[in-house]
Amino acid sequence: MDVALPLQGETEELHETAPRSHLVNRLNDQAGTAPAARLCELRQAARGRIVFTTSFGIEDQALTHLILSEALEIDLVTIDTGRLFPSTYKLWAKTERRYGVRIRSVHPREDALEDLISRFGADGFYRSKEARLSCCDVRKVKPLARALKGAEAWVTGLRADQSLERESVPLAQWDDRHCLIKFSPLFDWTRAQVEEFCAAEGVPINELHTQGYPSIGCEPCTRAIEAGENERAGRWWWERDEAKECGLHLDRTGKLVRSKAA
Ligand code: SF4
Repeated sequence: MDVALPLQGETEELHETAPRSHLVNRLNDQAGTAPAARLCELRQAARGRIVFTTSFGIEDQALTHLILSEALEIDLVTIDTGRLFPSTYKLWAKTERRYGVRIRSVHPREDALEDLISRFGADGFYRSKEARLSCCDVRKVKPLARALKGAEAWVTGLRADQSLERESVPLAQWDDRHCLIKFSPLFDWTRAQVEEFCAAEGVPINELHTQGYPSIGCEPCTRAIEAGENERAGRWWWERDEAKECGLHLDRTGKLVRSKAA
């Protein structure tokens, strides 16, 4: 992997595990540039491994296209929960063929999955919040932690206008939970911008996006949305009064991380 030289005087600080607000600020200074330039700046500024986690949603497909078009040294990883839509697995294979890459998958631990199912049942997530959070923890949160272990930065497809919970998502922020920089190059893009970009560039997208599914997660926990609903209303729709998050983007206190600097 190419390793960018640190800025003068930053060598020791860049090795610290404490929040590195100077680097976060430097990255946020690029907020006026295009997503491709933001990604290039991240690659130049970060000295260590960068991980992009894709769930093959339209934002992630746009980012996959940008990363691979720019030939950036960024690891592509997906969390295979075992409960994804068949169309998502199809798109995964199609994306690998289209770009000639392998996308590394991280899976839930087998013993944890066996415990989960014996405790709550196959579809226990419908019956209680505890069961739902336990399922997301085993199938998503813990595999994500393994995928990000040792990385300096994490690229995500978050956009601020996806939901109220995400409206303050910045370009770069310190992620205290995973001890790395969380970077969302599409943070200020609208849904329409992402769609236009993918159409113009011929980026393959999930067929469910044209069937009322703007946000696609696990099959049993995602439904099509109604007119007027926000993009994430179809996720865990039975938890009507809860924020629509699975835990991947929450801090140690269970809140969505919003701050721009460390
Ligand atoms: S989204 Fe549903 S099936 Fe997927 S990990 Fe969470 S509770 Fe389990």
